[in-house]
Amino acid sequence: MTLPGPVGIMGGTFDPIHYGHLRSAYELLHGLKLAEVRFVPSARPPHRQGPQADGRLRLRMVRAAIAGTPGFVADDRELERAGPSYSVTTLASLREDFPEASLCMIVGMDAFVGIADWFEWQTLFELAHVVVAQRPGFDMPARGQVADLIAARGTDDVEALRVRAFGSIYMQAVTQLEISSTDIRLHIGNGGDGRFLLPDPVCDIIQETKIYARSKTP
Ligand code: ATP
Ligand code: MG
Repeated sequence: MTLPGPVGIMGGTFDPIHYGHLRSAYELLHGLKLAEVRFVPSARPPHRQGPQADGRLRLRMVRAAIAGTPGFVADDRELERAGPSYSVTTLASLREDFPEASLCMIVGMDAFVGIADWFEWQTLFELAHVVVAQRPGFDMPARGQVADLIAARGTDDVEALRVRAFGSIYMQAVTQLEISSTDIRLHIGNGGDGRFLLPDPVCDIIQETKIYARSKTP
């Protein structure tokens, strides 16, 4: 039997969203035959400094970036919620909206290697699968808690994402684009612009609001 979905969930600060996020999500949408990919900007990321652009502006940039792309959805649930943006809370809320569907939380390898530090991380696997996208400069850990987790839950069988609603880890190669929001913010703060690193409508919003104009090289 095949479950509804799978629904891909891509969380992030998206400060700003760029082609690294978009291309990875696009390849996963089609490569894994996901029903959709939901982009979920986080309001108050627990593991890092607050974002430079506020939640509304980051959501506006996400909406501008994905407008007209079938299968891409902007999801504002973390911005609507009080308290820290824990992935486990977001997935529990998605599970309520999609009680039967396979849910696939998409994370880059840079984020995945730190997963054992996330709030109630073991519960994540009772709510969703985790799909790990390669990211330049980040390899799969060879030993430790995350390596053990991969040994226990890793699968090479993409069908695992369809026949069960949660619980597996699936690694996916994606086109490697060495783009980061941090580099874009600094580049713009130093007088450059982000064109061809992120969609034009997002560049236009950045130019209009001057949101990263003060992001200087430390
Ligand atoms: P920052 O530099 O501010 O940390 P970022 O570019 O890393 O920004 P995030 O919003 O932190 O973007 O990332 C959201 C998600 O997208 C994470 O799971 C991250 O691993 C993934 N991601 C970010 N950039 C890329 C990229 N270039 N290729 C593939 N995945 C990416
Ligand atoms: Mg990051």
